[in-house]
Amino acid sequence: MANKSKFQAIRGTRDLLPSETGLWNRVEQTAHAVFGTFGFGEIRLPAFEETELFAKAIGAETDIISKEMFSWQESGTIIETDLQQAWMLKHKQGFEAASREYVFNSRQRPDLVVREGDHTLVVEFKRRTINQATIENIQQYRRVFGERFPDEKSPRLLLVFAEEPSEFVRKLAGSNGVEIEVLDIPEYEQHESLSLRPEATASVCRAYIEHGMAQLPQPVKLYYMGPMFRRERPQKGRYRQFYQIGAEVLGGSDAPAIDAEVIEMVMTFFDRLGLTGAELDINSIGHNAPDCRPAYVQKLKAELEKVKDKLGADSQRRIETNPLRVLDSKLEHEQAIIATLPRIADHLCDECKAHYAAVKRQLELRGVFFKENWRLVRGLDYYMRTTFEITAKGLGSQNAVCGGGRYDGLVELLGGPPTKGIGFAIGEDRLILSLQESGKGAAPQGRDVYIAWMGERAYATAVRAAKDLRTAGFRVELPPTELKFGKALERADKLGSRFALILGDNEVAEGSWTLKTLADGTQQKFTEPELLEFLRSRKSLSS
Ligand code: AMP
Repeated sequence: MANKSKFQAIRGTRDLLPSETGLWNRVEQTAHAVFGTFGFGEIRLPAFEETELFAKAIGAETDIISKEMFSWQESGTIIETDLQQAWMLKHKQGFEAASREYVFNSRQRPDLVVREGDHTLVVEFKRRTINQATIENIQQYRRVFGERFPDEKSPRLLLVFAEEPSEFVRKLAGSNGVEIEVLDIPEYEQHESLSLRPEATASVCRAYIEHGMAQLPQPVKLYYMGPMFRRERPQKGRYRQFYQIGAEVLGGSDAPAIDAEVIEMVMTFFDRLGLTGAELDINSIGHNAPDCRPAYVQKLKAELEKVKDKLGADSQRRIETNPLRVLDSKLEHEQAIIATLPRIADHLCDECKAHYAAVKRQLELRGVFFKENWRLVRGLDYYMRTTFEITAKGLGSQNAVCGGGRYDGLVELLGGPPTKGIGFAIGEDRLILSLQESGKGAAPQGRDVYIAWMGERAYATAVRAAKDLRTAGFRVELPPTELKFGKALERADKLGSRFALILGDNEVAEGSWTLKTLADGTQQKFTEPELLEFLRSRKSLSS
C-alpha cells in the first residue's frame, strides 16, 4: 500500500488517516463527556516549555530527561548581540566587535561573554548574580589583557548587565574597581534551553501556579489531551510523538476519596469505550519521611546488596541510583529473586497505612476492581502513597495504557504553595490499538446518502437536497460531475453508502424520488418530505 516517496514521516511519528481518526475522535469525545461528568475542566497547554521545568518535575537523572527529550537552545547569542548592540547604540560609538571572545561556561550555558575593545574590557552578563570566583576570573583576565599595554594604567573593566545586578555584585564590583552598567533591553528573555513536552503534569502544575489557581475553590480538577514527545526507540505501541489523555486534581486535600474517584473516572472512561480486559493494579509507596519509605529503601538496598551478583547490569546499577526501580525489572531470571525481597506494605508509617486502607475501601465502595501489586513503584521523591497502573489486552510488551499516582510535593518543588496532587496519564495510541484489537475499533465510515443525479434540472435539485439532508445531519456525497447511473451506484457502493438517492430529470419533474437501499438493492419512491421522514426513522439504526 505505502509508496516510497521522497519525504516520509519521521520514524516514531505517523499520520492518522480518516480510517482511524473516527475512532480517535470517539475516544476524545468520550473523555470530554466522562471527565465533564466528574467536574473536570479542560486545560490546553503549550507543546514546549523551559527544559528546567521538566528536569525539576521528572528528575534530571531519569531516562526521559537525560536522553529522551527534544531540546534546543533558545539562542543565548541573541542576548549577547542585543547587549552588545544596545551598548554601542547608547554610547554612539563603534565599539570594536570582539577582537577576541571568551565565554565562561557554567553547566554548558554561556553565562557571560568578555569582549576586548579599545583599552576596555566589556563583560556581558545574562544573569543577575555572579560569585567571587567569577570576579576573580575576570580580574585575572584583565591582568593578562593589561600586559599588552605596559606603559598605561590597567585597562578599564566594565560589566554590562541586562538586569539590575544584586547588591552583592555591586559591592563586589565596587571593592574591585569594576564599573557596572545596566542596559534596559525590553525584549531581554532569559529562556535558555527549551524542550518539547515529554508529559504534561509539569505543565499543569506550572499553570496552576502561574494563574494563581490556589485561589479558586479547591480542589482544582483539570484534564488535558494532546501529543507528547520522547526520543525513545520506536516499536509497536511506542512512538516518539504519542498522545496522552490525562487529568490532575490539585488542592489542599489528600482525602482517600479523591484518589479513588480519580481511578473510578479512568475506569468509567474505559468502560464507556467498551475496552475489555483492562486490569487495574494499585500500590502505596508511602512518603518521603524517615519512618516510612526511606527506611524501606535502606532495607531493600541492604537485601539487594546480598543478591547483587545474581542480578543483571541494569539492576546492579539501580541498587546505587534508585533501588526501588529494581522492582520494575521484567528480566526473567530476576523474578524469583525479586519475589523474596522485603515489601513496602510492611514498612509504611501509620498514616500512609491508614490512607492506603481507606483508598482500597473507597474503591470497593465504588465497585472498582483492583489488584494489589507491591512492585508498582515510582522513582521520584515527591511521588507518594497511591500509585496505579492499568494494563490492556492486545498490546504485547507495551501493555500499560495508563499510569498515575499522588505527588503532593510537586507544586511546591516548582515554586508554588504547598499543594496536594494526584493524576494519571493514559497512552491514547495504546488505548486505540487495544480497542482495534478487540474489534471495538470500527467507527462508522462511509455515507448515509449518495446522490446519483443526471441532467441539469436534476442537478439543481440534487444540490438543494444535499443541503437539506446535511442540515438534518446526514452524511451526504454529491458527485461534482454527472455520472451514468450505473457508474454512480458503483461509486456509492465503494464509499460504503447506505442509500443512493436517484435523481434524473424525470424524477424531478414528477416530484417522486427513488431511494435505493444498497445492501439489498430494494427501491422505494418518496416525495421530498416523505424521504426526509423515512431517512430520519432509519437514522437511529445506523449510528
Ligand atoms: P508515563 O507518562 O511514562 O507514566 O506514561 C503514561 C502512559 O503513556 C503509559 O502508560 C503509556 O500508555 C503511554 N506512553 C508513554 N510513553 C509512550 C510512548 N513512547 N509511545 C506511546 N505511548 C506511551
